[in-house]
Amino acid sequence: MGKLLVIGCGGVASVAIQKCAANSGVFSEICIASRTVEKCDALKSALEGKTKAIITTKRVDADSREQLVELIDRVKPEVVLNLALPYQDLTVMDACLETGVHYVDTANYEPEDTQDPEWRKIYESRCEREGFTAYFDYSWQWAYRERFKSAGLTALLGSGFDPGVTSVFTAYAKKHYFDEIHYIDILDCNGGDHGYPFATNFNPEINLREVSANGSYWEDGHWVETRPMEIKREYEFDGVGKKDMYLLHHEEIESLAKNLPEVKRIRFFMTFGESYLTHMKCLENVGMLSTEPIVYEGRKIVPIQFLKALLPDPASLGPRTKGKTNIGCIFTGVKDGVEKSVYIYNICDHQECYRELGSQAISYTTGVPAMIGAMLVMNGSWRVPGVYNLEELDPDPFMEALSVWGLPWTVDENPKLVD
Ligand code: NDP
Repeated sequence: MGKLLVIGCGGVASVAIQKCAANSGVFSEICIASRTVEKCDALKSALEGKTKAIITTKRVDADSREQLVELIDRVKPEVVLNLALPYQDLTVMDACLETGVHYVDTANYEPEDTQDPEWRKIYESRCEREGFTAYFDYSWQWAYRERFKSAGLTALLGSGFDPGVTSVFTAYAKKHYFDEIHYIDILDCNGGDHGYPFATNFNPEINLREVSANGSYWEDGHWVETRPMEIKREYEFDGVGKKDMYLLHHEEIESLAKNLPEVKRIRFFMTFGESYLTHMKCLENVGMLSTEPIVYEGRKIVPIQFLKALLPDPASLGPRTKGKTNIGCIFTGVKDGVEKSVYIYNICDHQECYRELGSQAISYTTGVPAMIGAMLVMNGSWRVPGVYNLEELDPDPFMEALSVWGLPWTVDENPKLVD
């Protein structure tokens, strides 16, 4: 039993906090702290009478290490679950180190201002050295490994679905089905329909940055970069049906390539409908996806942040979204000298998620593993000093918890492969 501090109170946090509250045997106290404290207060009220956990709320600007240190010193949690934006990862990690608290997040660090000349210099040399141009990468957070280790603290990186569950599926496949894994295809299918011509299922700024960037995959020890949406495949998803999917760069490819050096190729595909892609292309062409501030009527605005203000709030999509998600990984490799393929996936129903927690399946499939990661650090199962991606730890307790907490999985030992 212990105290958890959650930073952020958006779509993913709302699910994770409700699941933590339902798991009060592990999380006896939960402090919800975010920039807009009214959202924390509203969630606390909604949970009143439904949980044995003691819930408190605080306002914090997680861009400020000083504010975070003061908050952590006051709240004294065992674990901090960072569900704000990737921009805040480093300040939250710094504050955890300074106060001696374990750290869990769901997305790797990305700077808010990609034009910052100091960051840009490091970014450009990384692009040249590594061969991929995404704004986010693990180097910033992996650099904390020795400091967390010597402080005896655990930092768990990417405890969402992808990354997160996909990383655990990989460790599970390696442990129980293969001697060596040679090919991994991660397939993220959202068969949900919210009825809007255009909306994003999680934070629009983060989502649109990811989707409009170059694609890339790992092959034979190096990155191969593609133009955005250059590689398209069609796949018949269990529970959803036939969908077009496109190759994207995705953060778990970087850590899986490092942690499973025997893997020859790792690709990530995500499904998109025609309407989404046409809208995105148009917004990009007119400059609305730019992260560079412009001056409008004497005031600086960032186009993609202004667009965020116009788009439907992802949290509001819950009641409108019908259909299912199917996310998982197809592994090909060898066991006892014989080549084989295994597909491990989860199907999640948008409307069932809404009925249970008032959220759509994208926030649900991220919030549940965020709670599980925090639980395994809190209860000691995954309390190893250092900075870890999820595939580095024993997958069994995580896989067991997925079934208990609403994300049951299926193993298909005869899957259709992606060419
Ligand atoms: P939302 O935009 O819905 O929520 C973000 C929350 O963080 C809001 O409550 C926001 O506050 C708060 N916040 C933002 N900046 C600050 C700050 N400086 N200080 C304090 N609080 C702040 O995002 P989501 O819930 O959709 O996403 C949360 C995280 O989950 C993101 O990092 C995202 O990348 C990640 N994610 C990971 C996935 C995975 O599978 N691994 C999948 C989907 C998302 P306010 O209310 O004031 O805006």
